[in-house]
Amino acid sequence: MDMSKIVIGAMRLDDRESAVATMRAAIDAGFNYIDTSPCYCRKDEKENSETWVGEAVNHPDYRDRVMISTKCTPGNGGLEIGDFQPEGGFGVRSVDQVSQMFDQSLTRLGLDRVDYYHLWTTHTAEQFAEARKPGGWFDGVAANKDKWDHLGVTTHGDPDTIIEFLESGKFETVTMPLNVINTTRLRVVDYCRENCIKVIAMNPLAGGFLVAREDLKELALRYLMLLEGVHVLIGFTFPEHVAYAKWIEETMGQFDLTAEQILQRVNEMMDTAEPRCTACGYCLPCPEQITVGAALSYYNAYKYLHMDEAKEAFNAKQWEDGLRLDKCTYCGLCESRCPNQLPVGDIIRKAQEALYD
Ligand code: SF4
Ligand code: SF4
Repeated sequence: MDMSKIVIGAMRLDDRESAVATMRAAIDAGFNYIDTSPCYCRKDEKENSETWVGEAVNHPDYRDRVMISTKCTPGNGGLEIGDFQPEGGFGVRSVDQVSQMFDQSLTRLGLDRVDYYHLWTTHTAEQFAEARKPGGWFDGVAANKDKWDHLGVTTHGDPDTIIEFLESGKFETVTMPLNVINTTRLRVVDYCRENCIKVIAMNPLAGGFLVAREDLKELALRYLMLLEGVHVLIGFTFPEHVAYAKWIEETMGQFDLTAEQILQRVNEMMDTAEPRCTACGYCLPCPEQITVGAALSYYNAYKYLHMDEAKEAFNAKQWEDGLRLDKCTYCGLCESRCPNQLPVGDIIRKAQEALYD
């Protein structure tokens, strides 16, 4: 089955009844891939994203029309190696632990295999090395080969690190943050296009805050729809969100801007003549693992698009290490690499003052 352009995120579901209705509406709309995980929407062992996905798809009208993806990680969700927490899928570092994760996810899903299995929240070379060690994550996945069809990686890493993961030849998909105000990882899209790897763009609405402006919400989704080789992962909550995405898809033929023109339009909306980060990503890697462009995209939206929601979203996402601007040591490396010759240290200081309370 070819993956649809819009794919279904199962991380923002509300409760069992609306989750099942929403996912079935999305499958009826032709969206044919569901991304879930052991920890999404987890209330308890019975009520969580995986069990709701299971209920939605274990029906003769739906199972054959959709691919299912789930995941686990040797990491801790951040930049470290994790301790084993099976209920959430963290710290999975041995063959037995991977087998336990497959048993848990497949039981919750009510399936005997998944279409895609992801090496999840893997952001650093150290985490990837942990997954590759003898008797580790990859050996565990190989030992369970009868339970999955394709492998992918889900990461918030910097572009060079992600490309190194992909150069291992182990993955058919990469799921990573990408949106109209955070194009930091566009180089990965180019690499994937050349190497027939599918990109699944998460955070299409910048962690949700772009929905606060109708014009930006529409441009954000249309931007990703226009990128060849990119699939747009939308975390639906209710069927009306599915209907909006379907409307976007059906009206793309009447939309005459290119992806580049959309970026330009969003840039023009930013009300400033000040030097501003364009989230190009060329200043990485940062020794503190800050994804500078991604973090400053929240500052741009807050300061120049006047969106208070961007500040809220930034603070709510401080679990993502790449957004931890407070960890900056002002070492000057990013500034020395910035092709736009921006005073990056000064911009980071201003962003810290504006975004942190
Ligand atoms: S600081 Fe410069 S190099 Fe870094 S993402 Fe922004 S514009 Fe690009
Ligand atoms: S100045 Fe700050 S953000 Fe830039 S590379 Fe150094 S620690 Fe990272």
